[in-house]
Amino acid sequence: MTVMIDGKALADEIVQHVAQEVSAFKLKHKVTPGLAVVLVGDDPASAVYVRNKIKRTEQAGLQSIAHYLPAETTQQQLDELIDQLNRDDSVHGILVQLPLPAHLSESRVIEAISPEKDVDGFHPENVGKLVTGQQVLVPCTPLGCMIMLKRHIDDLSGKHAVVIGRSNIVGKPIANLLLQSHCTVTIVHSRTQHIEEICRAADIVVAAVGQPLMVKEDWLKPNAVVIDVGINQISLNGKRKLVGDVDYHDVFSKVSAITPVPGGVGPMTIACLMQNTLTAAQHQLN
Ligand code: NDP
Repeated sequence: MTVMIDGKALADEIVQHVAQEVSAFKLKHKVTPGLAVVLVGDDPASAVYVRNKIKRTEQAGLQSIAHYLPAETTQQQLDELIDQLNRDDSVHGILVQLPLPAHLSESRVIEAISPEKDVDGFHPENVGKLVTGQQVLVPCTPLGCMIMLKRHIDDLSGKHAVVIGRSNIVGKPIANLLLQSHCTVTIVHSRTQHIEEICRAADIVVAAVGQPLMVKEDWLKPNAVVIDVGINQISLNGKRKLVGDVDYHDVFSKVSAITPVPGGVGPMTIACLMQNTLTAAQHQLN
């Protein structure tokens, strides 16, 4: 029988656990771990993500520090804020919500964040550590995917995993984490030929593409495990609906486990941000 991997329930569990650890941390250090979230501009989707992150931060007992900057913020103003947050001892994690308005450089902002406060795990120093298998703040979405996979598969060793998508924030770090867990990893992307055939050989398929309902039943082998990272808005019967990169209803009876959209990877990403903030604070104070 197919298992629906419930990201929301698992995320609740993680946030509860983080909240317990935060209480112990506060008793020990007399400090509340703080997460600074920076939102530039008024992109509605980003505003929703930030609101959800702040809500979870409070549930986890962390201190939430929000900076809302207007769309016309200059690179220098943003650099100055990051510098101030880097030096602020009450801030243990810094997250700048992406995408930024087009006139601002994302790579410059990512590189400006102190690696030890880089709770998104995007700084080149942290990326290098991830690739070389060192302890590091792991990007939240890939970390959430791995937790869900490990809940369902006891031993990932020797499994063939196909990652669809090669972005720096999702596809590449997931592929590295799967490799660290001794999977045989294939990464496919927009230039790959015969993607369906490659996916059909996989024990695990992670879809991080941004193409609604792309992965169909005949792309998968029986009993494959599917992690659907995609979040796509489509219009169905005149109503707006969120769907993943995988055609959930089409593949459901064929696979052994699958994450839904919504309610799968999304909530886990935020829960892992809470976990990373606590981890960053622990490293900074211990
Ligand atoms: P990007 O657009 O940065 O990367 C998409 C990747 O998919 C690229 O590597 C691209 O290939 C590949 N791709 C695009 N079209 C095809 C195709 N037709 N066939 C094969 N590969 C293709 O996206 P992200 O990695 O940032 O995000 C991917 C999805 O995950 C999005 O839907 C996003 O909204 C969602 N997301 C969800 C999160 C969550 O918390 N659940 C967090 C982050 C993202 P190429 O490199 O050749 O262009």
